[in-house]
Amino acid sequence: MSFRIFLHREVGPLACNCYVVGDAATRAAVVIDPGGDADELLTAITEQGLTVTAIIATHAHFDHVIAAEQLRAQTGAPFYLHESDSPVLDWYQASGKLFVGIELPPPPVVDASIHEGDVVGAGSVDLQVIHTPGHSPGSISLITDQAVFSGDTLFAGSVGRTDLPGGDTQTLVDVVKRKLFVLDAKLDVYPGHGPATTLERERKTNPFVGEAAGMWGPN
Ligand SMILES: [Zn+2]
Ligand SMILES: [Zn+2]
Repeated sequence: MSFRIFLHREVGPLACNCYVVGDAATRAAVVIDPGGDADELLTAITEQGLTVTAIIATHAHFDHVIAAEQLRAQTGAPFYLHESDSPVLDWYQASGKLFVGIELPPPPVVDASIHEGDVVGAGSVDLQVIHTPGHSPGSISLITDQAVFSGDTLFAGSVGRTDLPGGDTQTLVDVVKRKLFVLDAKLDVYPGHGPATTLERERKTNPFVGEAAGMWGPN
């Protein structure tokens, strides 16, 4: 099995988890959620001898994409986003000012939209795209045979907020149950913020979407 997480770093003003993952044999890599610290990420990518084949945002909130344009320009790799988050990306500069008081440059250029069922490759490793809206309309999760990168949809012991534009609580709850909890329970979950977990642990204990919430109780 050649899947590897080459790099995990908390980046940017809201401590977004950026993951660089891919094929341990060829060192082809995908950058997930480049939310800041572009220079540090690029240095680490170079030091590890990685070739970036794609840059993907799990959704377009500013704290997940601040470094996307610089990485795109300096690696030549395309930046991918689900098209339903286009309106969220349009809110990029205003939301940066609103939430953390920073002036952001124009939003990153999106080279292509990704959708449910798309597969993004890094060498022999495939990342499968699952559309998991609720936190934002175009939120996605990325699945490998070992891991789920869940963005701000599912956290260890929590879920993403749904009070931002385009968010919807019932959609998020349904999507986690129907699309994530049906996957192999042994998969590790790497969220957009906070510590890693497993699907099994969240299905059993997550107070918002797990059995502990009564969602899976007998009826
Ligand atoms: Zn978010
Ligand atoms: Zn976030």
